[in-house]
Amino acid sequence: EPKGIKFVVADAGDAFWRALYVFSPPGRDYRWCCKVTKLGPITLAIKENYPKGVLMFVGQRKYESIKRFKQPRVWRNEWVPNEIGASPIFHWRAIEVWLYIFSRKLPYNPLYERGFDRIGCFLCPSASLAEFERLKREKPELWEKWRKALEHWRKRFGLPEEWITYGFWRWKKLSKGEKAIAGKLGVDIPEERSWEPVKVKIEETGGGYELEFNTVLNKKRLLQVAPILGEVSVEGDVVRAGEVEFFTETRMAKAPDEMEAVSAYYLVKRAYECVGCGVCVGKCPEEALSIDEKSKKIVVDWNRCTHCRECMEVCPLLKIKNPEEGSQL
Ligand code: SF4
Ligand code: SF4
Repeated sequence: EPKGIKFVVADAGDAFWRALYVFSPPGRDYRWCCKVTKLGPITLAIKENYPKGVLMFVGQRKYESIKRFKQPRVWRNEWVPNEIGASPIFHWRAIEVWLYIFSRKLPYNPLYERGFDRIGCFLCPSASLAEFERLKREKPELWEKWRKALEHWRKRFGLPEEWITYGFWRWKKLSKGEKAIAGKLGVDIPEERSWEPVKVKIEETGGGYELEFNTVLNKKRLLQVAPILGEVSVEGDVVRAGEVEFFTETRMAKAPDEMEAVSAYYLVKRAYECVGCGVCVGKCPEEALSIDEKSKKIVVDWNRCTHCRECMEVCPLLKIKNPEEGSQL
């Protein structure tokens, strides 16, 4: 402030820990975590403070990984529609960064002196096993917190202890190399783990498609999101949204074709699993979405929503299903 610089904090609160029980542990190929804890809150903070959008400088470098090497130096991030990202030190090597810091006597994070060479989230699935060993030594309380969470999922998935000790949890779908390592160790790890709180069975019925959910459709909650699919009308317990009929207080819905059946599933999934990350709020061109303070879930403004469905395109609940999308920053 004394130098005229406004300091804005984008805080995800406890979003990671809430979202963990919707998504299951993050992986290198399943990076819902950065959308929920970084990109969503950043989108909301930009929207609130700089409605026209921002040019954002970050310190990522091409030598950090093969993936980073292939990325551009200036980019648009589809998860943060109101920013253009740029990395001024993209071509720098680590030694150049350090020489710059020393030559200008700049302060740096003291953890670099304790053997950490990458400082980000302590439980990042991109970290190596060596980095986790260092975490156990330097910050045992943090490792213990994460180990307990992993143990919960290990039991839920019925996996062996090696899933944690050898770090196999860092993938949703094991890479070729990890599969080979598991084979060499003689550890039985399934190729892919999957966790879907809201499930659906979709069946063709001649006149259309019938959906059966694993949860009863709550009318109040459904009405908070239904306009996304189309014009909404209500008749008793039947909620019609566009061409889809939801039979609330039961588990059933009806759609005219397969595409609408999948969209109906996505709507119910977002209604129930929403973790309030805010990514879709930034994407909505009509300012029709907000996050309810109490439930921390999205609510649609009926008067503003034009049923364009753009918010469906960015929701991490629907998008992070394959490694390409999951690993994109
Ligand atoms: S993006 Fe906004 S206007 Fe479009 S369907 Fe979603 S809530 Fe409605
Ligand atoms: S519905 Fe919106 S706020 Fe909720 S998880 Fe999806 S993108 Fe995030």
